[in-house]
Amino acid sequence: MKGVLQWVKGHYKPLASALLFAALALFLLLGADAPDEIEIAAVYDEQDHTLQVEQTIRYVNRSELELDSVYLYLHANAFATRERAPVLASELLQAYPEGFSEGYASVEKVFVNGETAAWALDGPQQNLLLVALDAPLGKGERVELELSYTLQLPKNRLRFGYSEKDVRLLNAFAIPAYHDGSAWQLHEYSAIGDPFVSTVADYTVTLQTPSSFVAAGPGLQGEGEDGVWRFKARDLREFALVLCKDYCVAQAEGAGLTVRAFAYDQEDAQALASLGAQAVEVFSELFGALSQDELLLCVGDFALGGMEYPGLVLLDRQLLQDDDGMLEFVVAHEAAHQWWYAAVGSDQVNHPWQDEALTEYSTLLYYEAVYGRESMESLYRSMIQPVLEGGALEGVNMDSPLSAFETNTFYDALVYRKGAAMWHDIRVLLGNDGFLDALRKYHRQYAGKLAPPEALLQLLGKEGSQRALEWIAGQR
Ligand SMILES: [Zn+2]
Repeated sequence: MKGVLQWVKGHYKPLASALLFAALALFLLLGADAPDEIEIAAVYDEQDHTLQVEQTIRYVNRSELELDSVYLYLHANAFATRERAPVLASELLQAYPEGFSEGYASVEKVFVNGETAAWALDGPQQNLLLVALDAPLGKGERVELELSYTLQLPKNRLRFGYSEKDVRLLNAFAIPAYHDGSAWQLHEYSAIGDPFVSTVADYTVTLQTPSSFVAAGPGLQGEGEDGVWRFKARDLREFALVLCKDYCVAQAEGAGLTVRAFAYDQEDAQALASLGAQAVEVFSELFGALSQDELLLCVGDFALGGMEYPGLVLLDRQLLQDDDGMLEFVVAHEAAHQWWYAAVGSDQVNHPWQDEALTEYSTLLYYEAVYGRESMESLYRSMIQPVLEGGALEGVNMDSPLSAFETNTFYDALVYRKGAAMWHDIRVLLGNDGFLDALRKYHRQYAGKLAPPEALLQLLGKEGSQRALEWIAGQR
């Protein structure tokens, strides 16, 4: 590169400065585009159900503004009181079978670029950690935040907690809030939906557990000997960990990806891994290959059924006991989220339809690919049609934010099922090839990014986006 520039300089000066300018612009752009880097060293204490965390976050300011502080989420604090915990009153008993149990984060130390910093907890749930910077952080500049905190785990069956069987460290670690270029997007940890919006970061994690535990997390390096587990993974919106003493592990290959399943017996683990591999194969064929090389499916105590994380899916153990076919449906749904959430991010708080409706319809496409068109149509008739005929979806529309929904039944009916009906209609309108072409472009262009709703609509063309807008506005 340098040699070429020198040659050009000697021959043609304006071109040389144009090239230099372009190189500088590219460098600045790459700087602003570089992911945050997050290093975590954590020790799990089985007696007290605590996790001692030392964490370094190298945060890049991607906004146009100078920042004088940085907001981080510390979602553990949302679990501190029964009143504020992210669970509906009607689901409290399911989530806390032995009664409410508190969880929280105690912050012990915050450093900015090596110096002690001022900080405060913020928000009604205190799930925000506001860190004051020592000097304004300009566009594209990086700051190093060091935190020490202890997580107290609640005994529950939610994303963050422990039970007899397992330990769920999901949305557990501090993570930068999303700054949209003009303001911080700060959200409560709501009971309905997945109230998380995050950019990608590169993670290096070391975890110490009692040696009886198996730790499942993305990017495991080595075997986790003597209870020391090392993970390294790129471009994750979140670092998810599940610990369990009784895990049997099995794996299967699908579309160049290794699917590893963690269940309570070997037969279940093998069956799960095969299902996961099948789903990954179907979706890779439909939407294009993922950049990650593994997907973990972890069985756990989880009152909400299934939950997606980058490279990891949590599945309630009840799904393996019931013989009603829901396990396959949930595995396919959560696997599809590796495309619509983990790869292509979106604002899950203000536009939850953007990933959920597409993921739900992708699940129907899985059934069509594996079992044939009639299987998909039968699912459509039993799951989707009744919602369309119900006519009780007034007051909110598909593009309402999470806060507009009062029950999970209502949220599910509108965002998942009616949302899937929207995608079915758009597929008929665009034709199968046009429809899949748009989704492949969406995946290719926005993997690793947060896609605004307009980005998705635009890819549907004039007719497709018009039709989508009618559904979203509740005119269909
Ligand atoms: Zn989902």
